Amino acid sequence: MTKAAAAQDAKPEVNLTRQREAILNVIRAREDHPTANEIFQAASLSLPGISYATVYNSLRFLKEAGLVLEINFGDSASRYDRETGRHDHAICNCCGKLVDFDLPGTADLIRAAARKSKFRPSSVHLTLRGVCPDCQEAASRGRDTKAQSKVSGVSAVKGRSRKF
Ligand code: ZN
Ligand code: MN
Repeated sequence: MTKAAAAQDAKPEVNLTRQREAILNVIRAREDHPTANEIFQAASLSLPGISYATVYNSLRFLKEAGLVLEINFGDSASRYDRETGRHDHAICNCCGKLVDFDLPGTADLIRAAARKSKFRPSSVHLTLRGVCPDCQEAASRGRDTKAQSKVSGVSAVKGRSRKF
């Protein structure tokens, strides 16, 4: 067998249809955490005529295959994440931006939470809610009165979280 033929025979770990592969590529190409609707919009560019149902079913397949993570914060549409390893998220109260972060002390935190709850831990996910740098800047310039009013809402949340 020639080298080229061998390479052609090499199968990916999960056999993806062209559509599923295109949808996976949409998620992997993005730094944000797109919703199914945003993925549908982007996938329509490379796969004109693809249906929302196909995108939705493909997302479910990719999630079950462990190729993407679905994250949901209970207050909006699920987001899809190309990063499948354990990590945490910060969400902007003003614009909804969702970014990744990971703290070096998370393993200790999981152990402490397990001790307190007497649970055997399998996972923990931290969600930081606040105001992103862009929205802070917009608020401090006073251009965006909406952002400004939300900033005062956040300081109330901060005060509450001190009780922990
Ligand atoms: Zn923001
Ligand atoms: Mn993430």
